[in-house]
Amino acid sequence: MAVRLKKIIELVFNIIFPPQCVNCKKKIETGNSINSAICKDCFSKMEIANCFYCPLCSRRLYEPKKSCHQETKFILAAATFYENNIIQNLIQALKYNNLKSAAKPLAEILKTYTEKINLLSLISAENFIVIPIPLYPKKQRRRGFNQITLIYKNLEQIISEKLPKIQENILLRVKNISSQTECANYDEREKNIKDSFIVKNPEIIKNKNVLLIDDVFTSGATLNEAVNVLKNSGAKKIIGLVIART
Ligand SMILES: [Zn+2]
Ligand SMILES: [Zn+2]
Repeated sequence: MAVRLKKIIELVFNIIFPPQCVNCKKKIETGNSINSAICKDCFSKMEIANCFYCPLCSRRLYEPKKSCHQETKFILAAATFYENNIIQNLIQALKYNNLKSAAKPLAEILKTYTEKINLLSLISAENFIVIPIPLYPKKQRRRGFNQITLIYKNLEQIISEKLPKIQENILLRVKNISSQTECANYDEREKNIKDSFIVKNPEIIKNKNVLLIDDVFTSGATLNEAVNVLKNSGAKKIIGLVIART
C-alpha cells in the first residue's frame, strides 16, 4: 500500500512538474522515455562498448582472460566512455544533484553492455562475489547512498536472471581523501588513495572470484588499490566493472 501511494504521489508530481532531460533539458513526456532522467533521443546517443580492456594500456580484450600486461591484477570491463557529455551529465546528476532516477538509465547501459560481453552468465557460472567500491562512511551519509550500489540494485530489477547479491560489508573505506579528480597525475592519485581500503571479512573472499564495481575509471588508481587489498586477502580472479572509462 505504501509503495502504491508513493507511486501515485510521484505520478501527480511528475504531471505538475514534468521532469527534464539531464542532458538536453527538454521536458520528458510520460511514457516516452527510458525514465524521468533522460529523454529517448539523448539515451540513444550513448555508444556502448562490446569488449573488456587491459586496465594498463586500454587494449581491447575480447575474452576476460589474462590481459596483455602480466603485472595487472584484474581485467577492466567498461560499459561506455566518459568523454560523452550525456554520460557525464547522468553520472553527475546522480552523484552531485541526488537525482536517484538517473540510476535507472545507467543500469540500462550496464544491462546492454553485460549482455554484449556475456558477463552475467560468466559471474554466475564462476560464482563471483559482487563488491562495490565503498565511499567513506561520512561521505555516504551525506549523499544518502553509494551511487554504484544503487545502479546495481536497479540492474537487478531489469534483468531476468538472478544476480549475486551485492556485498557491502567486505571492502570498507577507512580514509577520507581529497577528491581524486583534483590530483594532477597517476602518481598523485596513487599516493592519495593508498591505505584507503581494508577487507573486513577476508574469509568470505578467500579463493573467490570478485566483480568489483565502480562508476568511473579514470587513472585506475582507485580500482588498483582496492584490487591489491582484495588480492592480499586471497581473492582469485577480479573483474573491475565500471559504467564509463576515460
Ligand atoms: Zn535529452
Ligand atoms: Zn595492456
